[in-house]
Amino acid sequence: MSDPALDLLRRVFGHPGFRGEQRQIVDHVAGGGDALVLMPTGGGKSLCYQLPALLRDGCALVVSPLIALMQDQVEALRQLGVRAAFLNSTLDANAAADVERQLLAGELDLLYVAPERLLTNRFLSLLDRARIALFAIDEAHCVSQWGHDFRPEYRQLTVLHERWPDVPRIALTATADAPTRREIAERLALEDARQFVSSFDRPNLRYRIVHKDGGGVRQLLDFLDAHRGESGIVYAFSRKRVETVAEQLQAAGINALPYHAGMDASLRAQNQRRFLQQDGIVMVATIAFGMGIDKPDVRFVAHVDLPKSIEGYYQETGRAGRDGEAAEVWLSYGLGDVVNLRQLIQQGEAGEERKRLELRKLDALLGYCESTQCRRQSLLGWFGEAHGGACGNCDNCLDPPRSWDGTQAARKALSCVYRTGQRFGAGHIIDVLRGVATDKVKQWNHETLSTWAIGSDLDERQWRGVFRQLVAGGLLEADIEHHGALRLTALSGPVLKGEIELRFRHEPEKPARGRRTRGG
Ligand code: ADP
Ligand code: ZN
Repeated sequence: MSDPALDLLRRVFGHPGFRGEQRQIVDHVAGGGDALVLMPTGGGKSLCYQLPALLRDGCALVVSPLIALMQDQVEALRQLGVRAAFLNSTLDANAAADVERQLLAGELDLLYVAPERLLTNRFLSLLDRARIALFAIDEAHCVSQWGHDFRPEYRQLTVLHERWPDVPRIALTATADAPTRREIAERLALEDARQFVSSFDRPNLRYRIVHKDGGGVRQLLDFLDAHRGESGIVYAFSRKRVETVAEQLQAAGINALPYHAGMDASLRAQNQRRFLQQDGIVMVATIAFGMGIDKPDVRFVAHVDLPKSIEGYYQETGRAGRDGEAAEVWLSYGLGDVVNLRQLIQQGEAGEERKRLELRKLDALLGYCESTQCRRQSLLGWFGEAHGGACGNCDNCLDPPRSWDGTQAARKALSCVYRTGQRFGAGHIIDVLRGVATDKVKQWNHETLSTWAIGSDLDERQWRGVFRQLVAGGLLEADIEHHGALRLTALSGPVLKGEIELRFRHEPEKPARGRRTRGG
């Protein structure tokens, strides 16, 4: 029996069979249906529109926001003998005119185009004269304000559906938390499209989160000890931090290279090339690194600072273990990270609504970090996916956290924040609680407060844990205008009055060692 889709998959792409839901998606779109495809990075989204493009008459229009990815895809397709081209700002007028001519002459199977170009009146009327096989909207989360990559042009893509109601549309993304998914369907008028939701689970990744002790670099070195000679990525908060962490790793004899958008372009490209081609390079990078990096044997991804959201964390950690072999993802964070990130959001240029949204995302991530639940379960839960039982491959499963009744400690902490005037960071408040007579304490006469030395039962690390968890739980907030001074929130009242019981995670006796993760 003839099976044109499978024939093409084998003959053109050289794959023996379909993966996951590719078969159903290809059949649905090739048959003229609309689809919304949620598949993790590396899942094989491209084939879901490339095969229907070859199966249907005419040229498929692929909307893609990233010029570099567009060019890579077109290059790869051409090598397979597929008639593909792109239109974006890198082409000069002659080259662009040539592509347009090919489109009208029916000489193209796939045309990748940047949204701003597609949406020009000129290009839309050009399309009126072409034969269109389908529209593929890649990185569809760009339409969502909730998503991490909002592109206003994506909002106008509904024009495609209005102008060509009979042409099938397929929107694809690897970002699939429920709010983004709803917004994509709504904004792209894809409510009636069939949704294909793949599992986002990456069973070969082991998740681990530790609390920062100082800058976190010593803990990072311990973690890297278990990964000697392996390729991996270390994500850091800022360009400056990338530089210093890379230097510290180099000084410790690790083959580390920096990567961030502020570096000289040729050095950056060179570092990227080395990471891809050589074994055992540790790339210390901002999140500018990784988009479109397809290196299968990345054995670990470490966040030495807190990322911005659960989606970001998932994307970045997803670059580990693409080959399916065991890989480890590790994150260290502390109260300082929360302050830094809040500051970044609040001092950013986004509007108020956007800022509130980003703060909420940060809170969701903090909740995830402090949770005692299986990491995989809570991560997948965030993407609306149930995971049967605990995974046995994350820190909370392997090393179940103990918790303690923190009600009294929380009351002491909050009342000390209040007594000292809600103008100090955790360090000073902890000194007051523990009765440490520093110069600052004397300067402010804080030995005379009723909360002086009422917390000598806990050591400094334990108190840091209390403050971190109070901030993560929204019971205290860091005032960005005043250098991270801690302030009470609407939620603090019931705790102060003893109306709420709180449980906290035990702080590990020693900072968790990466080495321990090896044996399980
Ligand atoms: P995504 O866009 O979802 O991140 P890609 O479309 O780039 O993923 O595919 C990821 C990798 O998986 C590519 O190297 C691709 O060749 C490979 N791949 C996709 N589908 C199949 C398949 N059916 N069989 C084998 N390999 C596949
Ligand atoms: Zn688990």
